[in-house]
Amino acid sequence: MFHKIDPQSLTWGESLGQGSFTQIYKGIKQDQDEEDGARQTPVVLKVMDSSHRNCLESFLEAASTMSQLSHKHLVLLHGVSLGKDSVMVQEHVRHGPLDLYLQKNRGTVTTGWKLTVAKQLAYALNCLEDKKIPHGNVSAKKVLLAREGDTARGSPPFIKLNDPGVSVTVLARDMLVERIPWVAPECVSNPGSLALPADKWGFGATLWEIFSGGNMPLSLLEPQRKLEFYQSQQQLPAPRWPELAALVSQCMEYEPQRRPCFRALIRDLNSLITSDYELLSDLSPADV
Ligand code: ATP
Repeated sequence: MFHKIDPQSLTWGESLGQGSFTQIYKGIKQDQDEEDGARQTPVVLKVMDSSHRNCLESFLEAASTMSQLSHKHLVLLHGVSLGKDSVMVQEHVRHGPLDLYLQKNRGTVTTGWKLTVAKQLAYALNCLEDKKIPHGNVSAKKVLLAREGDTARGSPPFIKLNDPGVSVTVLARDMLVERIPWVAPECVSNPGSLALPADKWGFGATLWEIFSGGNMPLSLLEPQRKLEFYQSQQQLPAPRWPELAALVSQCMEYEPQRRPCFRALIRDLNSLITSDYELLSDLSPADV
């Protein structure tokens, strides 16, 4: 279960956008601290659309999952406020979603930066794997950037994986197809089969997305073409960096049991040497 937050302690601010079933706002949470008096914490308020009441249970389940976990690369859930609306109260992650950040900063984000972010995401997913909790919605949109980092000063970026939102197990089919290629193929054929291997597939697609600068051309295809991609067991174009290509293809194995565990993925990510990739990029500059 999760910590319940009094709706009266929340102040609502500007809109930050929306998810599939949610509206997202900036806000302030007020607490009375015995020693320090009143305390104000900047938060994000995620409100479930009242038109999607049937997904409420799954939304609260996502909150419950996040409240069981504590990891530096997972978004912190302060609790849930159950007033007129159901509101997830999360920490505010300053620089927003990784896909948009990568698209905006194409020229400046280095390979080393991308690799650091990929490793941090793998650590977050390793924590979920250890606890046997599938996330089910891994993509660069779900990775939030807490710190940009500064290559010149040697300070690394810092990411946090967001909550999964409404589970793939209850999503309508068209929404599942929309999530190709991040959603695992077994979840499209049978959403109830969501299990740990699905996050390895999602991680592979996200790895590809990160190294392509936040782009995923496949996601723009018509639903039927996306389905055909999975039905004929196709793969994303192999990245030019052979070691990265091998990692992506191991994660995006159509047979779920053949995908590696996150411990092995972290070991492989740690053995990647960015200068190898930069050499390849100098020879033929392109995205992935
Ligand atoms: P889904 O559509 O996958 O079900 P959702 O409803 O849970 O997702 P998100 O995709 O998590 O919604 O959030 C939508 C947008 O709101 C994000 O892309 C981001 O811009 C913003 N956002 C969400 N959570 C946070 C946060 N903790 N800190 C800062 N911005 C956030």
